[in-house]
Amino acid sequence: MQTTPDTRSRELEERIAADPGAFRILTGDRPTGPLHLGHYFGTLANRVRLQKAGVELFVLVADYQVLTDRDVADHLSEHVEGLVADYLAVGVDPSAATIFRHSAVPALNQLMLPFLSLVSVAELSRNPTVKDEIATSRQASVSGLMFTYPVHQAADILFCKANLVPVGKDQLPHQEITRTIARRFNERYGPVFPVPDALLSAAPSLLGVDGLKMSKSRGNAITLSAGPDETARLIRRAVTDPDRHITYEPETRPQVSNLVLLAALCQERDPHSVAAEVGDGGAAALKKVVTDSVNEFLRPLRARRAELIADRTYLRRVLAEGNARANAVADRTLDEVRSAMES
Ligand code: ATP
Ligand code: MG
Repeated sequence: MQTTPDTRSRELEERIAADPGAFRILTGDRPTGPLHLGHYFGTLANRVRLQKAGVELFVLVADYQVLTDRDVADHLSEHVEGLVADYLAVGVDPSAATIFRHSAVPALNQLMLPFLSLVSVAELSRNPTVKDEIATSRQASVSGLMFTYPVHQAADILFCKANLVPVGKDQLPHQEITRTIARRFNERYGPVFPVPDALLSAAPSLLGVDGLKMSKSRGNAITLSAGPDETARLIRRAVTDPDRHITYEPETRPQVSNLVLLAALCQERDPHSVAAEVGDGGAAALKKVVTDSVNEFLRPLRARRAELIADRTYLRRVLAEGNARANAVADRTLDEVRSAMES
């Protein structure tokens, strides 16, 4: 495949392959709706692959962060259980992973206080992801929680001393703030935290059917749990361009290339060869290839998810066990932070 992660992520992959036991992942998602193909190819596939390779995995259902850009967390328990079902359906092994939610781990949230003291308002206000999220926010004014979102994320990552964070490209500015906070804490109070690395996939920013970043809350996402007909309907709507000849040129033809990439990822093929095969068939032929590839790729995953979502007791048990493990880790870290700051 020609779609390879950037150089930094490639170097990281080599270090992980050499010693997977030296890495711990923390990554997560907001329970604002079902997960989509952007999540799958941006981060979920990496989580599963690395867990299988022997990296320890923490997965956060970021329920408090739902309130960063909206007044109420609608359908919260449904979305929380939906995320757990998505994780297990894509192949996360719950016996080895810690799947937990923010609101169940008070000590994690307490790290916000010392961490907030380590960043300036100016640093928070120049964060491009926060700016972008403010632009698409459903709130009339910007809440303090939105503003401090990246600091909360630092607490998420550092409470369990994760050193590896597989994310989409939109998260890189937040990730920088986590690294800054870890460094500053260690300089000021002594070495407590690792300085974590972000890991990008080969598809770090998948676009939705409107040509903008695929997002749960933008109504442009192909969800993992959608049926084949809904998937076909969504892809039919996808924005393309007037050039009938299909090519893979992400810089100059982002929307068409995004569709080509989607088919290529599902078929595990080189996007250039997928594009060449469609050639002069135009957007309609391309969309048919994408629809068939996505539906074929997601079929087993959708079947597993349908079984999982029917067993709410099991999903809740997975979460309760994860919450208990995360609490034990968070309590230990908070104790360490307190002693470092007092000595
Ligand atoms: P929301 O619209 O509610 O913010 P979202 O679709 O942006 O939802 P998040 O829960 O904010 O999803 O993001 C979870 C993880 O998935 C992050 O690591 C993020 O970088 C990654 N991710 C989200 N969307 C994409 C995408 N389109 N391409 C690649 N990675 C993505
Ligand atoms: Mg988001």
